[in-house]
Amino acid sequence: MGEQFIQENLRTPVRYTCDVLVAGGGTAGITAALAAARNGAKTILIDRYGFLGGSMINGAGPLHSFFNLYKAFPGVEKVQVVRGIPQEIIDRMIAAGGSPGHLEQDKGGSYDSVITLIDWEIFKGVIFDMMEEAGVRVLLHVTAAGAVKNGSRVTGLIIEGKSGREAVLAHTVIDATGDGDAAAFAGAKFIKQHGTTKVGMPFGMTNVDMPRLVQFLEEHDMVNQLIRADKGGKVDDIIRLGFELKKIPLFREYMDQFGIWGPLGASLHENNYNYINGTSLSNVDATDTEALSKAEIALRKQVMTLSRMLKEHIPGFENAYLTWTPVCVGVRYTRVIDCEHDMTLEEIVNCRRFDDEVMLYGFHDCAPRIMIKNGGYYGIPYRAFLPKGVEGLLVAGRLITSVWEAHMSTRNTVSCMAQGQAVGTAAALAAKSGTSPRELDTGLLRETLKKQNVFLG
Ligand SMILES: Cc1cc2nc3c(=O)[nH]c(=O)nc-3n(C[C@H](O)[C@H](O)[C@H](O)COP(=O)(O)OP(=O)(O)OC[C@H]3O[C@@H](n4cnc5c(N)ncnc54)[C@H](O)[C@@H]3O)c2cc1C
Repeated sequence: MGEQFIQENLRTPVRYTCDVLVAGGGTAGITAALAAARNGAKTILIDRYGFLGGSMINGAGPLHSFFNLYKAFPGVEKVQVVRGIPQEIIDRMIAAGGSPGHLEQDKGGSYDSVITLIDWEIFKGVIFDMMEEAGVRVLLHVTAAGAVKNGSRVTGLIIEGKSGREAVLAHTVIDATGDGDAAAFAGAKFIKQHGTTKVGMPFGMTNVDMPRLVQFLEEHDMVNQLIRADKGGKVDDIIRLGFELKKIPLFREYMDQFGIWGPLGASLHENNYNYINGTSLSNVDATDTEALSKAEIALRKQVMTLSRMLKEHIPGFENAYLTWTPVCVGVRYTRVIDCEHDMTLEEIVNCRRFDDEVMLYGFHDCAPRIMIKNGGYYGIPYRAFLPKGVEGLLVAGRLITSVWEAHMSTRNTVSCMAQGQAVGTAAALAAKSGTSPRELDTGLLRETLKKQNVFLG
């Protein structure tokens, strides 16, 4: 039987109008919405979940990275490359007792010299406070399900939620869905890059005897990343812990079978190894419902098996139990939207700077194998967020870079947050001046960002 179709005749109510509509309240979307609203735009932020933060609190652990890779290059100065709203979020988290701030790595400094941890539950409250203070209207449990267009210009999105199917009209739409859903609905060109990487599902275990675990791992020369710091407890100061589980043959056999790596992890509270990242599955198209469903089920099996094996075989885990899994599979790479500029690995590792750059960044997730030259940092131009051929649209986040080796830098949380501030500010300025984001004066954008504590060198 050939493909079947039904014909729908839809009449969709326009429920909201705004200057800036941000689709996706993840890592890039939150800063985009805050920046847009603070720059005077009537801003709406939508997300399919009941919380904000996206992959940053649902798969990523340590935030990589506010700083350059100075520890890999003796004599190189430590520079805080990302500041502005991302730093403000960390300040608010510290004030709320939800973050130990920026921590230097004791071991593993050539991978990332400084990591930043946040408590996800506290973040969920803090970020709503920040949205409220900025005047962002937050619509949760709604999915962007289509685009409203006038010729080549996007004029809004169709959302679907408990109130049914509704339209939100906007001067500028920002696609921060990670998967480029809104841009794809709007007809932007894209490629899919899921084949180049893996999806994953970190998990957390409580009642782990962290000192006993680290002693065992050190005796067997298995530790590759470590930070000891005060986490307000008496018996345990291990806050970052990565190790090579494959050194144990039983684990090597299981891990090789599924491509499981690491794990790399973090522990924010005593006896709580709250983030253990290592499970993985290759070549999952997370924009395909069936593939995503299968991946969810397969990864949950990996989590169950791996946590049970840790408990049975690794000292320190004897009394531990599984206490956290993310709300869904962690997706790294799906659609990449075809923008006016596509960051290359050469530009990244050679610290390329641009006249129209709107952020700087100094971390690469493949370090020390791939490193940014001399612990430096590079710029991302405004053009990298402007999709070709569609007006009224900006994109930000893990969807902007088409080559995996380059994406391994731009996709990281702190980069996404900085990208969000840049595009949110741009969208507000475009709305204020009644221009399309493509026609925006990048000089004005850069001046505005600098005044708002964005470091542009
Ligand atoms: C397993 C894993 C581990 C990682 N570890 C690290 C790490 O340790 N450190 C690090 O810095 N980075 C890490 N990363 C990478 C990093 O977390 C992401 O690349 C980054 O957070 C992506 O941000 P984003 O804003 O582009 O997308 P996301 O944060 O994924 O945000 C997208 C948001 O859009 C929403 N959304 C999606 N589609 C729709 C729709 N149609 N309608 C409405 N809402 C929608 C989602 O709910 C989500 O909130 C990891 C990623 C994964 C998957």
